[in-house]
Amino acid sequence: MADLSPKLRGLALALGILTLELWRPSSSLLMFIPVFFISYISFHYRVMAFWFLSVYTVGVLVLHFFLGAAQEVWVWPEMLSLWLLYAVPYSTKDRYHKMEREFVSQNEAKRAEFADFKAVVEKLKKENGRIDKQLREIGHLYDVIKDLGSTLNAQEMLDLIKEFTERTFDLPHFVIAVVSPDHKKYNVRVTSGCDELFLRKAEIDVDTRQLLAVLARERKPVLVSSLGQDTRLEKLRSLSIQSFLFIPFIIQDKVIGFLCSYSPQPNFMDEEKFSNFQVFFNQIAIGLQKSLLYERVQKLSITDGLTKLYSHRYFKQRLEEELVLAGRYDSPLSLLILDIDHFKRYNDTYGHVAGDHVLMQVANILKEQADVTHLVARYGGEEMVVIAPETTKEKALELAERIRVKIKAFVFAVGAETTGVTVSVGVATFPKDAETSTDLIGNADQALYAAKNKGRDQVIAYPIEAKKG
Ligand code: GH3
Ligand code: MG
Ligand code: MG
Repeated sequence: MADLSPKLRGLALALGILTLELWRPSSSLLMFIPVFFISYISFHYRVMAFWFLSVYTVGVLVLHFFLGAAQEVWVWPEMLSLWLLYAVPYSTKDRYHKMEREFVSQNEAKRAEFADFKAVVEKLKKENGRIDKQLREIGHLYDVIKDLGSTLNAQEMLDLIKEFTERTFDLPHFVIAVVSPDHKKYNVRVTSGCDELFLRKAEIDVDTRQLLAVLARERKPVLVSSLGQDTRLEKLRSLSIQSFLFIPFIIQDKVIGFLCSYSPQPNFMDEEKFSNFQVFFNQIAIGLQKSLLYERVQKLSITDGLTKLYSHRYFKQRLEEELVLAGRYDSPLSLLILDIDHFKRYNDTYGHVAGDHVLMQVANILKEQADVTHLVARYGGEEMVVIAPETTKEKALELAERIRVKIKAFVFAVGAETTGVTVSVGVATFPKDAETSTDLIGNADQALYAAKNKGRDQVIAYPIEAKKG
C-alpha cells in the first residue's frame, strides 16, 4: 500500500509524456524528457522510476507498432538508454548502500571504542585525582610525623594530631583521650568542635561499662555509618548521633588512648578514609606512647613521691623563673616556708607511718588553700614552701595564717587515738625583703626560725627586727 503513491506517480508521469508524444509525434526533442526524468528519479524514487519506465516502454511500443506515432529511428536506442539509466544507478546504489552500511557499522564500532576509551580516561582521571589526594595526604602525614618526631611533649604532640585530624579528615566533632599513668582512667586531652557532652566527662574509668571504655576493651576500630544494628550504640540515638567513629591507639596489645568522633549526619566517613585514618593512628601511636612515658617520667622527676607536691629541685627552678617575671612586671612575690612543729616527737610517739600520713594531709591542706597561681612544693623533710606570685606581704600573711589555722584544726586519727599538729610559718616578700632567690629563701627561713623561737604555732614575716620594733 505504501508503494501505491509512487506507482501512481510513475504511471501518471509515463502517461503524461506519452500523451505529449502522441500530440507531437514528429518532435525528436520530446525523447529527452523521459531521459531527463529517469536519470533523476532512478536514483531517488526507485518504485516510481520502475513504474514510469514500464508504462512508458509499453506505451512507446504501442505507439510505435500499432499507432505508428513514435519516432521510428530512436525507439530502440531510447528504450535501451532509458533502461540502462535505470539499471546503472541501481547497481551503484547497491554498492553505495553496502559501503554506507559498512561505514556505519565501522563508525559505530569506532564510536563504541571511543566511548570505552573515554570511560577509561574518566576512570584514569578519577584514579589520578584519588592518587593525587592520597599523595597530598601522605605528604601531609609525613610532615606531621616529622613534626611529631621533633617533640617529646605529649600535649604538643596531641595538639599536632588534633590539627592534622581537623585539616585532613574534616571531622565535625572529635575527642582524643589518653590513658592515665596508673592505667585506671582515660583522660580527655583533645576536643574539637565538641559540646559539653564529652567535655563534661573529661575522665572515663577504664573498667566501667561506659560505651567508650567498652569499645576500648574490645580494641577494634569502629565505624558506624548510620545507627541501627549495633545495640551498644543505643544510647547515642537519643543524642541525635547518626555516624560514629572509634579508633583505639594500641601498643603491644594495650590501649594507650583513643579517638572518638560523631556526627548528627549519617555516612560522615567512607571506608577509604576510614582505612587511611587507621594507618595514620597506627603510625602515631608509638610516638604518642613515647611522649606519654616522657611526660610521666618528667612529672615524676618534679613531683615528691610521698606528698605529690612539687620537688625541691622544681621549686628552685620555678622560683628563679617567677622572680624574673616579678622583676619584669614590677610586681611583688611572696614566699612561705612552713615547718611542722615537734615533728620528731610526733614520729617518735605515733610512728613514721602516722608521720607520713600527717605529711600527706598537711600537703593536701596546702594545695586546698593555695590558688592556681601558687606553687606548692616539699622543701625537704617536714618543711614545705609556697611561691605566691603577685602577692603582697599582707596577703601572704593572711594565706599563711589560714593555712596554720586549718592544720591546727585538723584531726589525725592514729588507730583509736586522735592527734593533731601545729605548724610554724616564715614569710618573705620580693623585692622588699630580698632580690635573689637565695636571699628570699634565707630570709623566709629566718622568719620561720623566729616563729620557732617565739614558741611555734605562729606565722612570722621578715624582717624580724622590724616586727619586734
Ligand atoms: P621543730 O618544731 O623545731 O621543727 O622540731 P622538729 O622535731 O619538727 O624538727 P627536727 O628537725 O628535729 O625533726 C624533723 C623530723 O621530721 C625528723 C624526721 O623524723 C621527720 N621527718 C622528716 N621527713 C620525714 C618523712 O618523710 N616522714 C616522716 N614520718 N618523718 C619525717
Ligand atoms: Mg624541720
Ligand atoms: Mg619541725
